[in-house]
Amino acid sequence: MRRITVFGSTGSIGVNTLDLIARRPGEFAVVALTGGRNVDLLASQARAHRAEIAVTAHDDCLPALRAALHGSGIEAAAGPAALIEAALRPADWIMSAIVGAAGLAPGFAALSQGTTLALANKESLVTAGPLLMAEAARHGARILPVDSEHSAVFQALVGEDIAAVERIIITASGGAFRDWPLERLAHATVAEASTHPNWAMGQRITIDSASMFNKALEVIETREFFGIAPERIEVLVHPESLVHALVGFTDGALMAHLGAPDMRHAIGYALNWPERAELPVARLDLAQIGQLTFRAPDEDRFPALRLARAVMATGGLSGAVFNAAKEAALDGFIAGRIGFLEMARLVEGVLSDMSSRQGLGNAAISLDNVLGADAEARRLTADRIAQGRI
Ligand code: NDP
Repeated sequence: MRRITVFGSTGSIGVNTLDLIARRPGEFAVVALTGGRNVDLLASQARAHRAEIAVTAHDDCLPALRAALHGSGIEAAAGPAALIEAALRPADWIMSAIVGAAGLAPGFAALSQGTTLALANKESLVTAGPLLMAEAARHGARILPVDSEHSAVFQALVGEDIAAVERIIITASGGAFRDWPLERLAHATVAEASTHPNWAMGQRITIDSASMFNKALEVIETREFFGIAPERIEVLVHPESLVHALVGFTDGALMAHLGAPDMRHAIGYALNWPERAELPVARLDLAQIGQLTFRAPDEDRFPALRLARAVMATGGLSGAVFNAAKEAALDGFIAGRIGFLEMARLVEGVLSDMSSRQGLGNAAISLDNVLGADAEARRLTADRIAQGRI
């Protein structure tokens, strides 16, 4: 039996991962499941999958988790140290699906046991890509992409030489505000931004899709994952979300990956890799679909893409600052403290503050430095919001 652990099991990716596992009884032994505040779901998942341990990220949730697991024989634990301990429990396959930079430390720790890490938590690569890749190489661990675009690229590259890749094109649905004019975007509400036209995802990534910050993170993730030069990475708006990515080769060929917008495809590919197994996802009827459309993204309405290019040009700790400022700005937007367009302005301001003060590009990337830059960027973003300095 393959031993598996799921970080962020109570989230959208986590639930889809467990759905696939539940369909193959007897094949997997669940080691650890982790969540945040949704303790009832975490406990019921742990019971259903007979996990060894359930971990909540929050100490104050531990009594409720213990109570919900009472009599089951399943261990309960809480807090950052317990997450690391769960990451170190021997497992053959670990899903990293905590949302935000909080996923970095457990994912990093998991690599030290030389396991296979299925990486949904793109923030880890954006904040500390070189560090994660070096850690994986040091311990003979493997990182498999779970983001649908990166899984698509990974699949298109099977049997290919990366040196023959001319460009990588990742597609974007364009999110909830794909066709909104700039003036209207200024007044977009949290409810409007939390609805995705094609994908069912957690609230934070859905809002990040509407602002295209999600695509910005994915551009940086592409750079870190495949080691390709930033100028060779393109974004294409594709409202149907059926072509997830394309790889262009030096002979002019373009290999496209198509599939229904269902995360169980990319999760299932990572779960079964290097083999393929049948998955419960819809099959595309291209004759019925008839048409696929594409257009260039509008960086005036969605400046996050431009910021991603600046971050890649700077390098060093700028990815950590970019992501943390984005997360803090998103908190501000969800709390109704700033407007939709102000998120990008804030992130740009914090990047500029920190690069002039600290020389972000030259800083060494260690876990401590990344977490330090993350904390500083969150503090500066919160200060700017409090002072109305946007
Ligand atoms: P969700 O918001 O649905 O779930 C997030 C998970 O992380 C939950 O289990 C949540 O627990 C837990 N969590 C939240 N805060 C913390 C914290 N501080 N420490 C530890 N755990 C925490 O997110 P998604 O499933 O949508 O996304 C997860 C990751 O996968 C993100 O990095 C996202 O970018 C990426 N991703 C998601 C896709 C999708 O389709 N959803 C597609 C591609 C990538 P609880 O809910 O119990 O509080």
